[in-house]
Amino acid sequence: MKRVFLVLIAFILGIHCNAFEVVYPKAKNVTINSGTTFFIGNSERDFKINGQPVPRNKKGAFAYVVPLNIGENVFTFDDSIQKEIYKITRPTPKIYSGTAAKQIDFTEYKVVMTNAENVPLRSTPIDAGINRLSHLPVGVNLTVNGEQNGFYRVVLDNLETAWISKNNVITVKENAEANLKGYDFIDTDKFYTFVFHLDKKVPFVIAEGSTMELKLYNVKDYSPYTFDFPYSETSGSKTLYGYSGEFIGNDFIWKIRKPHVIDKKYPLKGIKIAVDAGHGGYECGAVSCFGEKEKDINLLIAKDLHNELKKRGADVYMTRTHDTYHGLKERVDKANEQDAVILISIHGNALPDNLDPNKNRGTSVFYYYNMSKPLANAILNKMTSQLGMNNDKVRQASLALVRNTNALSVLIEVGYLINPDDSVLLRESEFQKAAAKAIADGIESFFTKQDSE
Ligand SMILES: [Zn+2]
Repeated sequence: MKRVFLVLIAFILGIHCNAFEVVYPKAKNVTINSGTTFFIGNSERDFKINGQPVPRNKKGAFAYVVPLNIGENVFTFDDSIQKEIYKITRPTPKIYSGTAAKQIDFTEYKVVMTNAENVPLRSTPIDAGINRLSHLPVGVNLTVNGEQNGFYRVVLDNLETAWISKNNVITVKENAEANLKGYDFIDTDKFYTFVFHLDKKVPFVIAEGSTMELKLYNVKDYSPYTFDFPYSETSGSKTLYGYSGEFIGNDFIWKIRKPHVIDKKYPLKGIKIAVDAGHGGYECGAVSCFGEKEKDINLLIAKDLHNELKKRGADVYMTRTHDTYHGLKERVDKANEQDAVILISIHGNALPDNLDPNKNRGTSVFYYYNMSKPLANAILNKMTSQLGMNNDKVRQASLALVRNTNALSVLIEVGYLINPDDSVLLRESEFQKAAAKAIADGIESFFTKQDSE
């Protein structure tokens, strides 16, 4: 009654009092190329869209799915005091026809050279997904014998081929073959390091396992040069804590991190952990039902996580502490510069137009390399058991922040900002602190569990 009275006063005084707030779509006239979309927002009062009552949760958040016909779709929001009209245009589907990309075999082998840093060498001629064999630096010579779909087919040895984007290489006149003069093994307190002395940069692939395997291709008298390092046997640990493979000049440096000696009482003591708050600056990320920006919620949770980990004795580094923009590579590079053992990226989830935000909720944890999967599982486990979050699975995905081998790298989508119930949780500082605690507990349980069973 009181609320109705206040609204009435506001109305009479002509104060702009928005009873319902629509945060998505962002404008009243938009084009959306999908068979369905959704309205995301919050409202203090009951209201209807095209005469249909819109369900809200206790805090007023809503996500309402609507079908879209081709052409203009008009949606009238009405709460009997306020009326708003949204016009969404669904374009006529365009048909693109083309010929299927054929695989072309060259009559003669060609030599090409990578023209950029971090060029993906892929298992299939497609620029997407989990098909990366390794990332090559600038100046690696490759022998190619065919092409398809904008990719060259790379000859690794008699049996193995790979693919490289034609945009990432230039044709050269040189030979691709290198000489291997020998290698050094350096055993320090933190790493096992191998230095392979070559006279030219070559393509390489590293395979994870209890025995780590390095293959250096195009090495004279070998096809390929294969080096097996019995990691588990040497270190006494089944868990791999990160590795790197890179050229410094023509030397290939292969570093494998040694396992930590864990203090069971304080498992995080002295462990370097990088915490990355997703997005920032002009990059806002998703928007919640209440209009909060993902970048801000990510930073709040990341700061809580920083404090929680510090309390437990970890040495914490944050990739950002303010609302500033940082590129993905810069974030990973900074974590590596700090020599982080763990890299955690904090995000909030959203969905494309064709999915239902009411049916998607909970936490998902992403990883890329298998060595990071047990950590992802441990974190998700605590998020579901301690916070009652829906288990939205541990997923393997090719995201820049998790494609880092130097540290165990995971990206946590804490919840769905556009799910009405998750959005209520994500904005509460109590929940943010509890999420940070669950993540820290997950990391702790990962360390205490490893090698103990
Ligand atoms: Zn995000």
